[in-house]
Parts: sequence; structure tokens; C-alpha cells
Amino acid sequence: MVKYGEIILKGLNRPVFENVLVKNIRNSLRNTDNVKITKAQATIYIEPEDTEKTGIVMERLAKIFGIVSVARAAVCEKNIDDIRKKAFEYCAGSLENKKFKVIAKRADKGFALKSPEICDEVGGYLLERVPGLSVDVHDPERTVRVEVRDFGAYVYCEEDKLKGPGGMPIGTGDRATLLLSGGIDSPVAGYMTAKRGVTVDAVNFFSYPYTSERAKEKVIELASILAGYTSKINLYIVPFTEIQLAIRDNCPEEHLTLIMRRFMMRIAERIARNNKSGALVTGESVGQVASQTISALNVTNSVVKMPVLRPLIGMDKEEIIVRAREIGSFDTSVLPYEDCCTVFTPRHPSTHPKLERVEKSESALDVNALINEAVDNIELIEVYPS
Ligand code: ATP
Ligand code: MG
Repeated sequence: MVKYGEIILKGLNRPVFENVLVKNIRNSLRNTDNVKITKAQATIYIEPEDTEKTGIVMERLAKIFGIVSVARAAVCEKNIDDIRKKAFEYCAGSLENKKFKVIAKRADKGFALKSPEICDEVGGYLLERVPGLSVDVHDPERTVRVEVRDFGAYVYCEEDKLKGPGGMPIGTGDRATLLLSGGIDSPVAGYMTAKRGVTVDAVNFFSYPYTSERAKEKVIELASILAGYTSKINLYIVPFTEIQLAIRDNCPEEHLTLIMRRFMMRIAERIARNNKSGALVTGESVGQVASQTISALNVTNSVVKMPVLRPLIGMDKEEIIVRAREIGSFDTSVLPYEDCCTVFTPRHPSTHPKLERVEKSESALDVNALINEAVDNIELIEVYPS
């Protein structure tokens, strides 16, 4: 039984959001098992054909944006005898010597018993039969939930529910292009954007041979971890060596990073426009490094017209790391391969740059020619969940 969150607030548009969620569920389970999916009363029911697969199915579901919780429920006829027996059969094993309570929900208003009566009936039946079981309504160790709904009665244990990621179903929120480095921050930024229903493409700037094949594998792995939440991700690998060398050889050292970042933004915007993507996404957070002060962000932002989303803008590194661990990207992010930025880092980067001065430094370069050359040699990799 899948419950969803914010979609419920969508009023008349709610069916549109629900249908996208059902489609995403179907896609995500395509290679897992044949499942029957039905939707009623703000709940989606998933019935795996092969019940052995229920565990895997639940884990997949718990990663789909829009879903708030997944409960593994037993279903029975809507009469109190069946409900009591089913509750015993399904829950007794985990109730021995435990403090428990029953919560009932009567979503089918035609059902003869009221919620408190259902609780009494089921609770009493279990108390008589399960050894060592006692009632504690304030601090139970196990909570047996009974929901009497349109198509049947459902029984499950609250404590066995998996928590979903929440957010909005992917595909309800347009498209954005993530600048995906090999670091900790940008995968989290991508996750947070996708969580709001946005389809995410990814761009990586790659400076072979200064950065190794292993560094590229690492970025692909990060994209694949993200794809676990979003299904397929288009990853554009942009050859960046010529641009970095041109910057290093022709521009003042204090502006190297900023000019490099301006190239990244311009190229990402070009890729985004070609893919009907309406915004860029970065893992920047104010003050984290020299190129992320407000004046530095102004310098890099000024070369693009589309909105640049920075979901981590107010987060501390520690908070970002907690998120990275939760979504499963941290261990890959901290693998030690060089990123293109670390290879050409200036010793004294400008922290409060003036836009005109950076523009002047950059004027030594043929910006369009360099960008065209890089864009002509982009490699597209379709990345699937690992
Ligand atoms: P991260 O931890 O994600 O690498 P960072 O803290 O190292 O980010 P910067 O190196 O200043 O910060 O990069 C800021 C942002 O620019 C990154 O979060 C990412 O969105 C983008 N970025 C940096 N390097 C690359 C790259 N090689 N390819 C694609 N995007 C990049
Ligand atoms: Mg970093």
C-alpha cells in the first residue's frame, strides 16, 4: 500500500499527478516482477505476482519521488471475523511479549463497525491468543493498523512501513540540466531538484588526460546512483582540456577558476537549450569556496540567461554530507580521483571579483570558438540505475 503526500493538495489537478506517479511506479518495477497496480482513495495498491519479490518491490517503491510511505499489507474480506483472523495470521509472529495497540481506519463509511469497535474486536482477539502480549496505547512497541477501504480490508504493522522520499513525481516539473562534478555537492543538488518532480539531465566537464578514465567512471557511477531515483539520466561529457589550457595560458591566475566556471555555465546552457531544459542546477553553497561568494556567483551567473537553481545554497557542508549519505552517493563522491577543477586550481583565487575585471581577463580568449569546439565533441552516455 503506497501513500503519497503533497499530491493530495493538488485539488482538481490531482489525477494528473497521480497518473504520472503510477506511470513512474510501473517503469521502476518493469524489470522486477509483474505487478497489478490499482488506485483508490488516495492510495496506490501494488500486488506483486510473485510474493517472494515483495521485499525488492518495496525497496524500489521507497525511492520513488512522490511516495511518502510503503506498507506491506495483508488483505481480506470486509467482515470482522476475517479481519481478526487475518490480523492474527499476519501479525502474531511479531507481537509475542510486546506492548501493542490497534489503530483502525474506516475509509469505507458503509462498514458496519465504527473505528473504535474495530480496534476493540481486533485487539481483544489478539490479546487472547498471542503469548505475553499487552496493551499500551501511549508507547506501544508494535502498532497493528487495520484499514477498511473500497476494495477490501488491509492489515499491517506500522513499524514495518518503509518511508518514501516524498516530493513530487518526476515528469510533473519540466526539465533541468545539472552540472555534475565528481564531488559531494552536485549529486545532492541533482537529487533535491529531481525530488520536486523535475526531470534531470547531467553535464560533466572532463579534462583528459589531466583527469583519468577512472574519474569519468566515477561520474558515471554518481549519475547511476541518481538514476536510481529518476530512471534513465542523459549524461553529457564535455571535453574541457583545450578550454582549461587556453585559460591557464592566457588569463591571470587569480581569475582562472571564475573564467573556467563561466565556460561551464555557457556550455551547460547550450546543452540545456538543445534539450528543452529550462534551468541549470549546481551544487554551489554560499561561501563554501572562493568561487561561491556572492560576488563570484554574480560573475559566473552573468554569462547565462536561464535560471540557475542552487538547492544547497544555504546548507553547511556537514548537512550536505548527511544528505549524500542518505541518498547513497557519499562513498562514491569521496573516491580520490582528480576533478578538472582540482587540477587547475589557482593558489590565490579572487574571492570578491569585479565583473568588469574578469570580463577583461577573459577577452584574451576566443570564447565562441573554444565553446564550439568543445560542444562538437560532446559524448552522450545514457545512464541507468546500477
Ligand atoms: P562538488 O562538491 O559538487 O564538486 P564543489 O564544492 O567542489 O562542488 P566547485 O568546484 O566550485 O564546488 O563547483 C561548483 C559547482 O560547479 C559544482 O557543485 C557543480 O555543480 C559544478 N561543477 C564543478 N566542476 C564540475 C565538472 N567538472 N563538471 C560539471 N560540473 C562541475
Ligand atoms: Mg566539492
